[in-house]
Amino acid sequence: MQIARDTVVELEYSLRETEGEVLESSQATMPLAYLHGHNNLLPALERALVGKAAGDDVTVNLAPEEAYGERREQLTQRVPIKHLSHAPKRLAPGMVVRMQTERGAEPARVLKVGKFNVDLDLNHPFAGKHLQFDLKVVSVRAATAEEIAHGHAHGPGGHHHH
Ligand code: ZN
Repeated sequence: MQIARDTVVELEYSLRETEGEVLESSQATMPLAYLHGHNNLLPALERALVGKAAGDDVTVNLAPEEAYGERREQLTQRVPIKHLSHAPKRLAPGMVVRMQTERGAEPARVLKVGKFNVDLDLNHPFAGKHLQFDLKVVSVRAATAEEIAHGHAHGPGGHHHH
């Protein structure tokens, strides 16, 4: 079966900066499962995967504008510590925390810590980076009606409802 809209794809992946260190990898855990065609991956990655099948290896190189955007130096914000989601007890500069936004919990890097507030760099940690994704397609199957209704994959590597 080939990857197309409304298929569920299991991927092994590793992500590095082009010519650089590995930033993130599925290998320590388990393959990622996603529902294709529902904005679950970067659009440029989904485009590169269309028509691929189990066993295919795909390497995708993305410039910042196709991935997480350019870094913006002005993109800092002072927020109450209580607006962080699952913040560690002792915050320190350089830590990556999650801030509640309209789009859900977004990662942000701590710049400065006060008593009640924290200054955050809201650039995505991978902003400004040229990224290389090494992908291996593990399996492709038709999505269930429930997965399509939810907009995400269920089961191992996908979304779990409790
Ligand atoms: Zn669901």
